[in-house]
Amino acid sequence: MASRFALVIDPAAADDLRTDFAETFTVIDPSAPALSVGELSTQRGDGIFESIGVVDGHAQEVGPHLERLAHSASLCDLPAPHLEQWRQAIAQAAASAGAGEQVIKLILSRGIEHGPTPTAWVTAAPAADFSAQRTAGIRVVTLDRGFDSGAPARAPWLLLGAKTLSYAVNMAAIREAHRRGADDAVFVSSDGVLLEAPTASVILRQGDRFVTPAPGAGILHGTTQLSLFAHLEALGFATAYETVPASALPRADAAWLVSSVRLAAPLTSVDGTAIPVDAELTASVNRYLLSPRD
Ligand code: PLP
Repeated sequence: MASRFALVIDPAAADDLRTDFAETFTVIDPSAPALSVGELSTQRGDGIFESIGVVDGHAQEVGPHLERLAHSASLCDLPAPHLEQWRQAIAQAAASAGAGEQVIKLILSRGIEHGPTPTAWVTAAPAADFSAQRTAGIRVVTLDRGFDSGAPARAPWLLLGAKTLSYAVNMAAIREAHRRGADDAVFVSSDGVLLEAPTASVILRQGDRFVTPAPGAGILHGTTQLSLFAHLEALGFATAYETVPASALPRADAAWLVSSVRLAAPLTSVDGTAIPVDAELTASVNRYLLSPRD
């Protein structure tokens, strides 16, 4: 059985010149209590995270995940993470992983109330089984995200491009999708622009081109989408970041939710309207996503 793993990081300053950070890691029992009750990550969701897919011990797309962690830290006024320190922590977590699919989580929290430093930790655990979603596909409903497409630029304090720990809204949207008889949700801005799913990016196929909503729309820039676009371009397909009207989704020639652990799940319907599934392309895309990627 795949094992669980956890280590706490003593965060180094971004300009720390050390090359070996082993002494800044404390491996802990992943099933034992570890956080202070004063943790601002748990009290306020005040922190950021990343979820990295691990396949047969290989952590996927570590560089893009660390870049996004640094971007989220900057948006949240958290100290810049020392990327080499995090890279070494990820390597240690990946070395604990056995065969099959696991997920490594990186967490950087504001720290303990009245405390001096941020807290940081890394975990590894078996991934949920997404094989049925990858083959049978998923039904989605579109849900109003509650802000218009001007909000990310007008109100940066909403932290719309940061992967913060405040996922209660995202989880509520998935529950609402279930209440409506669907498997997942796709957020739409109040002025009708397609955004992202609560835990995934959206990719549409329109003929021989693949389109995804532009990250400036107040969504995360997905590492899976980024990697998949590079792969599709290498196969000769055109790709584009665009402002996509919500009305384009049910008219797509195919569409997927993609994320680091789920990989690519084809959409079978949007708000009850069936959309075509390209089973062959989906299978080949998931084979690519399961291959070692850096
Ligand atoms: N958008 C949101 C809101 C997410 O939570 C995630 C992943 O968790 C993604 C997009 C996809 O990002 P990635 O492909 O890096 O996993």
